[in-house]
Amino acid sequence: MAYGTTSRKIALVGIGKIARDQHLPALQASDDWDLAATVSRSGAIEGVEAHDDFDAFLTARPDVEVVSLCLPPQPRFDYAKKALLARRHVMLEKPPGQTLAEVHELERLAAKQGVTLYATWHSRMAAGVAAAKSRLVERVVQSLRITWKEDVRKWHPGQEWVFAPGGMGVFDPGINALSILTEILPEPVHLVSAELEFPENRDTPIAARLEFTGNVGAVFDWRQEGPQTWDIEIETNKGSIALRDGGARIEVDGAEQKLLDHPGEYPSLYARMAQLVANRESEVDLAPMIHVADAMTLGRRITVAPFEFDKETT
Ligand code: NAP
Repeated sequence: MAYGTTSRKIALVGIGKIARDQHLPALQASDDWDLAATVSRSGAIEGVEAHDDFDAFLTARPDVEVVSLCLPPQPRFDYAKKALLARRHVMLEKPPGQTLAEVHELERLAAKQGVTLYATWHSRMAAGVAAAKSRLVERVVQSLRITWKEDVRKWHPGQEWVFAPGGMGVFDPGINALSILTEILPEPVHLVSAELEFPENRDTPIAARLEFTGNVGAVFDWRQEGPQTWDIEIETNKGSIALRDGGARIEVDGAEQKLLDHPGEYPSLYARMAQLVANRESEVDLAPMIHVADAMTLGRRITVAPFEFDKETT
């Protein structure tokens, strides 16, 4: 459904993997949005007006009232702050910043400027998540296990920023699981212990084991070759529920549940952004990032083998 009678102009900022894989197709398929420009130092999209400097773009295109930031987390705050000061509505990829304080500052600024700030969590829009959440309302959760194991070389080929400070390491995908956890659980939990495995040549973890209150646990590992696993398995007083494939599928007592037609994670995010802008509202939920910050604060550090994207140099 389109909000308003005409589509709103939007600029996509940081034309890299996720901008091309997900944001572009979602925008092209949407009646809510008109992709008016891109801003990227080197990336561009054929047929779309391209800028390579954000300040110059903000000056040149005051008519583009919304920007969607698809940059890695490290440069995101500076871009978001400039956009908010220029009174643009801002949509943030996950995680919404490098630190909690950065995002609090953006929230304050958005409110002061009277514009929308949307900190997106794409995994919350996965097809099975709402179904799992509604089923848990009626049940008591006895245990919940997250297993998020993937191959960083496959999903982040050569993306050095994930291992740089602020890149979060394995929490870059792990925070997707935590965004689902914090969405579906009827009662909040908090971290009680963590073990973080840091490659000896890297600044962020490549694997993590987390234990929360409420018999909730998580294992994240970026060294998984072969089959990839993104599962959340829940035991309740009325049987089991499992979310598989990052929330795309749901099983109840081991039986796959048929889901209604689903628009997809990114089309759902852009529909929500259209709604927020139309209503002049913001949505910023930092619960998933609080768990990551707690893990970094409370986690025991274990040093493991060095990691290089190119296996030959490891
Ligand atoms: P990426 O391809 O490595 O980076 C996106 C673009 O940002 C780059 O092509 C680059 O474009 C620009 N950029 C990179 N570093 C920059 C810097 N220091 N300053 C200014 N611009 C910079 O990253 P990505 O995989 O798309 O991920 C971006 C965000 O999306 C991350 O927060 C990630 O967690 C999230 N995300 C990624 C995926 C995925 O599958 N990769 C899935 C869901 C969410 P220019 O060089 O042209 O400026």
